[in-house]
Amino acid sequence: MRPLGRLDTVAGALAALRQGEVGASALAERALARAAEHAALNALVTSSPERAFAAASAAAGSTGALAGIPFVHKDLFCTAGLRTTCASKILDGFVPPYDATVAERLDRAGAVLVGKANMDEFAMGSSNENSAFGPARNPWDVARVPGGSSGGSAALVAAGVVPFATGSDTGGSVRQPAALCGITGLKPTYGRVSRHGMIAYASSLDQAGVLAHTAEDCAHVLAAIAGADPRDATCSARPVDDYVGALGAGVAGLRIGVVAQFFGDGIDPAVAASAREALAALEAAGAVLVDVSLPTLPLSIPAYYVLAPAEASSNLARYDGVRYGHRAEPVADLAELYARSRAEGFGTEVKRRILAGTYVLSAGYYDAYYRRAQRVRRLIADDFARAFESVDLLAGPTTPGTAFRLGEKTDDPLAMYAADVNTVAVNLAGLPAVSLPAPHVGGLPTGLQLIGPAFGEARLLATGHALQQRTDWHAVLPGGGA
Ligand code: GLN
Repeated sequence: MRPLGRLDTVAGALAALRQGEVGASALAERALARAAEHAALNALVTSSPERAFAAASAAAGSTGALAGIPFVHKDLFCTAGLRTTCASKILDGFVPPYDATVAERLDRAGAVLVGKANMDEFAMGSSNENSAFGPARNPWDVARVPGGSSGGSAALVAAGVVPFATGSDTGGSVRQPAALCGITGLKPTYGRVSRHGMIAYASSLDQAGVLAHTAEDCAHVLAAIAGADPRDATCSARPVDDYVGALGAGVAGLRIGVVAQFFGDGIDPAVAASAREALAALEAAGAVLVDVSLPTLPLSIPAYYVLAPAEASSNLARYDGVRYGHRAEPVADLAELYARSRAEGFGTEVKRRILAGTYVLSAGYYDAYYRRAQRVRRLIADDFARAFESVDLLAGPTTPGTAFRLGEKTDDPLAMYAADVNTVAVNLAGLPAVSLPAPHVGGLPTGLQLIGPAFGEARLLATGHALQQRTDWHAVLPGGGA
């Protein structure tokens, strides 16, 4: 491994740009060159050099908060004029006529888009193996998965290609790949960031997030993308906190609830020990650790895997071969056009979710599955609300293990779903959470997950920053000897 350099982070690169040590075009060139060096990661599905150089020259005179910083979008953010695939064959050839709000805001802040990142098809997955482009790989060990579904975004940041990337988190897709790739991943409160133009998977759970090396960098990016949007009715009008200004808040007296269920069955003891080591560092900095129990947490996987597919089955009805992307030809009639376009365009996991989701919403099973899962969702949210009456944040390992080998779980969907055991409850409750790099296990990264009450991003990021000021688990890149 090698140390994180100044130009590898948003804060470092901003300082270097400001001091004239480097120019925006040179940074864009560096990112594109590194992307080419790391082509074996299969993490970038579209490269946009012309757009990047145009944005870089515009950034030279810009006062935007992220002017000149290269980044990639997970390929579910619509980018006007640049193909957006969701890593699905069904969106073959789709070039959006408009920008997602997140894309528009990052453009406005002067950030420089260098390309679109690989992902699980329609963000369904925990390993980035469900991609029409083939799997992305983990830069710490290319025989292993980077996690999913924002695997390409995580791999590109972890490898030092770009200082930050966007992601989306429906059940862990920002935090889980961040943990498995050794970077920081922020999933904001539901409604903190607009979903407009972010291709929908499960609308009541989806939230745009940030992948970067540090909590400080996540604060810079969140500041640029958060806030009300008239084009997303579920986006909160609540004023946006000063995330960067709050970074120095420290953790003295902060009460962190250590959640027993996050350390339960199926969690690799070494990964649990890493999370405890990171928590001990926060304790040494003045935080107070308190044991907490959230009894309904074991119900989160079954509830999530009813609700997310239900919403997906509805959202994905729009891909009919008529309006976007792939169309089966020739066909005898309209029914065959729908059926064959969808059969040819969607991958196996997406079809599995559509089938399961349609089933749980069907007249005979709605009460038994969908309505029941909704009730469980409420119980889980209530459990969190109760816990936050006595603690400021909740904590546990982000994932049950380190990055697994490619193919290790692809034949067993339930084993794959279990990779989300510590992340999905947060989405069911709509809360913000961050995954912070914790000590490596067997040469592979692990993550500490911190969860906050709704709109608690500033405190989450300040706590991450306090940890990262005292430890260096976040400050390494893979490769380069040693
Ligand atoms: N792994 C979970 C799923 O497949 C979560 C994915 C996500 O957060 N987009 O649904």
